[in-house]
Amino acid sequence: MTEIEYKIYIDDVIRRVETARIKVSAHHIVKIVAISKYSTSDNIVKLYNIGQRAYGENKVQDLKQKAHHLEDLPLEWHFVGNLQKNKINNLLDINPTLFHGLDSLSLAHELQKKLLAKDMTLDALLQINSANEESKSGVSIDDAKSIYEQIQRECPNINLRGVMSIGAHSDDAKLVKESFRKTHEVYKQLKGADICSMGMSGDFELAIECGSNMVRLGSIMFNK
Ligand SMILES: *Cc1c(COP(=O)(O)O)cnc(C)c1O
Repeated sequence: MTEIEYKIYIDDVIRRVETARIKVSAHHIVKIVAISKYSTSDNIVKLYNIGQRAYGENKVQDLKQKAHHLEDLPLEWHFVGNLQKNKINNLLDINPTLFHGLDSLSLAHELQKKLLAKDMTLDALLQINSANEESKSGVSIDDAKSIYEQIQRECPNINLRGVMSIGAHSDDAKLVKESFRKTHEVYKQLKGADICSMGMSGDFELAIECGSNMVRLGSIMFNK
């Protein structure tokens, strides 16, 4: 693909996001985070050149390498993976824009300790395992609100901004929609929350319909 062809292709993805968000409301704004985990720094530069600023990775080491390699560009870096406790300091050294994968109270407590020691704060989303799948991490729908509030009370250096969820792993759109709908239902009950991160390449339109305002698009942004 030439740069022009790539731009036309990405414009079409953006148009799909636009069409979905307008169906919700003219005031419903959706942000695209390009998940670059299967991609190279060179490809990030290509996408940056046609206007994409926010990127996400799911491994601390990859985030570190790419952020370092591209440090001269004004990029926003998101961490969307699961964070092992022994990698917390590595993540904090990168000072990411947003951590999407805060998936337990014990991780929040550990994170709080390290943030306090470094005199830092971190914006984060509570990850919800909305379809109760064993393969996914995150808190349950039923526990989400109380854990969110407990983190707000006990972890002053974590700035909770909302929730993140991965749609149910199913070919049945009804089940996927149900998982998004439930997550959004919790999100609406959270005081001060302004980010509902749901939707990937295969299901972002459905996620936006259910109220997502941040989509994490990997393969569809880079597969060219
Ligand atoms: C890989 C990944 C994505 C992007 O997935 P695609 O299906 O390639 O769009 C989004 N969110 C998380 C948490 C991921 O790990």
